[in-house]
Amino acid sequence: MDLVPAPSGENPVKTPMVEVEAVDVAEQLNAEAVALEEVASEFGSDSDDSDGDDALSEDGEIIQFMRDDQLQDVPGACTLEEAMAYRKRLHDIGKAAFVEETLVRETVTAKKLCTAFGIKLPEFLDGAPDEAYHPLLAIAISREFSRRPKLSQYNTIDDAVKLLQEAKNIIVLTGAGISTSLGIPDFRSKDTGLYSKLAHLGLSDPQEVFDIHIFREDPRIFFSIAKDILPTEKKYSPTHGFIKLLQDKGKLLTNYTQNIDNIEANAGVRAEKMVQCHGSFATATCVKCNFKVPGDAIFDDIREGKVPECSACVESIATLKPQGLKRKRSSTGNQKDRKEFEDSSDEDDYEIPTPGVMKPDITFFGEDLPDEFGQRLVHHDRELADLVIVIGTSLKVAPVAEVPGILPRNVPQIYISRTPVSHTDFDIDLLGDSDVVVSELCRRAGWNLEHHMIPADEKVDITPVEGYESRHVFKVVGA
Ligand SMILES: [Zn+2]
Repeated sequence: MDLVPAPSGENPVKTPMVEVEAVDVAEQLNAEAVALEEVASEFGSDSDDSDGDDALSEDGEIIQFMRDDQLQDVPGACTLEEAMAYRKRLHDIGKAAFVEETLVRETVTAKKLCTAFGIKLPEFLDGAPDEAYHPLLAIAISREFSRRPKLSQYNTIDDAVKLLQEAKNIIVLTGAGISTSLGIPDFRSKDTGLYSKLAHLGLSDPQEVFDIHIFREDPRIFFSIAKDILPTEKKYSPTHGFIKLLQDKGKLLTNYTQNIDNIEANAGVRAEKMVQCHGSFATATCVKCNFKVPGDAIFDDIREGKVPECSACVESIATLKPQGLKRKRSSTGNQKDRKEFEDSSDEDDYEIPTPGVMKPDITFFGEDLPDEFGQRLVHHDRELADLVIVIGTSLKVAPVAEVPGILPRNVPQIYISRTPVSHTDFDIDLLGDSDVVVSELCRRAGWNLEHHMIPADEKVDITPVEGYESRHVFKVVGA
């Protein structure tokens, strides 16, 4: 499951390893913002007064983009086919030649060309001369050109199967989607996910349940829901089995997972092949003395909704007891509100040593990500990877979201998920239930992916998505 859901706004997770790229992008955007602001003021847009739909809004949204499927709703916009052709042409011939071929020769208007690159035409430019769209187009072209272009030689299912068969060092990126078939809640889904259970906790934002500051203040909030995300049985999905199969075939370079359920281990994926980008329940650490235990040492407490105490702390307190602990003042009130109890300035209060809380080693908001991620990706995997397979994640959350952009552009990238993403260009999109997709890929590769959730006689129907050469939908026949 994804631990850190940030569908909108700033990502709270630190990504030290991508700072260089981030700075570049920020500088570029700043320059673009200035350029666009000039255009806006020239055409009389009052940027201070703009609402959410305008290109210059107060919440920092500089340019609004639209998805490919919105093109058909915009009068005068490129068709999807035209848009794809323009994008390909740009990557093929470069920026200067592309501008020469289009704007200079007046084969298309700047306004229309903006839509080819997903720019939502700002209202303040309505009725303006075509030149007014030039700065916007410049931004759009730069943005498109800096994207990793799709590799045109990889499109079909056969291509995907061949890549699998020939690859020697595969990076697999995984998210919540590979565990949902096991009934593990997806944090990101608002209604069916875990967040819907959190309303009664009185949190202003459900993400607070994974906020380290709130955990330190009152760990009971986290432990009241922790049992719902605790891995229970030793089960795993066919997709986890697929990752193990890649390992068995000597093809798995690294599985970077956003999931904290540690289910990969159940499937037999070795710890040295895994980077758990958001930590996991595999171990737990005392917040006071840093004493570490295997995760299952605190599972009983978690299942009962109790706050697990550190046994090392308990022991050291016990040895202090004879001289250290004085008789406690009798209290008429209960001590349920720990904070109030601690804040009391009453001088009659005794110092009562309390054991530290055992915190599962999952990464909370406000905590640094495990170092291993960037170290391994940049200093080891980047040179070796010859195929990337992204499974069951919308790739919106750092640091995993950064991986495709950090790898050399000639490394093929395959995407397996229920819904396509538009912010990254994959070479082949295999859409559907990931368990179904990987089992069909294995069938076609002649690999034996045995799993009780895959019926022996399963037949899978694959249909192309209209308008895309490289997008395919997988469905079990009769399902
Ligand atoms: Zn401790």
